[in-house]
Amino acid sequence: MAVDPLIELRNVNKYYGELHVLRDIDLTVGKGEVVVVIGPSGSGKSTLCRTINRLETIESGTITLDGRPLPAEGKALARLRAEVGMVFQSFNLFAHKTVLQNVSLAQVKVRRRRQEEADRRSRELLDRVGLLNQAGKYPAQLSGGQQQRVAIARALAMEPKAMLFDEPTSALDPEMINEVLEVMRQLAREGMTMVVVTHEMGFARASANRVVFMADGRIVEDRSPDEFFTHPRSDRAKDFLSKIL
Ligand code: ADP
Ligand code: MG
Repeated sequence: MAVDPLIELRNVNKYYGELHVLRDIDLTVGKGEVVVVIGPSGSGKSTLCRTINRLETIESGTITLDGRPLPAEGKALARLRAEVGMVFQSFNLFAHKTVLQNVSLAQVKVRRRRQEEADRRSRELLDRVGLLNQAGKYPAQLSGGQQQRVAIARALAMEPKAMLFDEPTSALDPEMINEVLEVMRQLAREGMTMVVVTHEMGFARASANRVVFMADGRIVEDRSPDEFFTHPRSDRAKDFLSKIL
């Protein structure tokens, strides 16, 4: 099946000083595709995510979203950040704003929605992630799993074309992981284009169209979850899987 590409990286290289962190990265994420990125710590997974919404610049290569190069600055860059939602390991909510305000804020500031319209959409999204009854609380009054679901709702409020998740469940207590993964599984079923860095292999098997395995800044394997987990080709992937499975 040929998929319509949404995110394309071609020959992307990134350095931090002398450190070559992304090496000749070629990656295409089709519309509606869920790509899970795995690999050892330090292999460049977070950097890869951050380059896609231009939290990091690159030294060479091209990145396009919907066929257009990523904008470098100004309003177009702000729009890009809204179009490519990002959810991090740390929830990054505004501590002095309520859950509802957290979800509404960028809708008003970036999307220029009226407050009432933003709040109405926020309530819909909070309902979707199972947190409508927490709308008036402050982040510190919520569990980690609940905070992460607010962060997802906040990103979705921008009506993104794609969502990037960088280890969204790594900071959570085990009993809260599933409530966040369930929201992500639901998003995947609804056809959201997603790039997900995670160690949750159950999620990768059930929801990913492809698994990308990274090591030392390179994409070493890029295959279906079934092929990857049953027949990893590279020694690096075999070694990695033997440690986590
Ligand atoms: P991963 O997410 O796979 O653990 P990262 O993308 O965070 O890997 O990091 C890749 C490499 O880049 C690591 O060696 C890390 O130490 C280094 N690195 C990450 N961020 C920075 C930074 N801001 N400055 C310098 N080096 C960095
Ligand atoms: Mg990382």
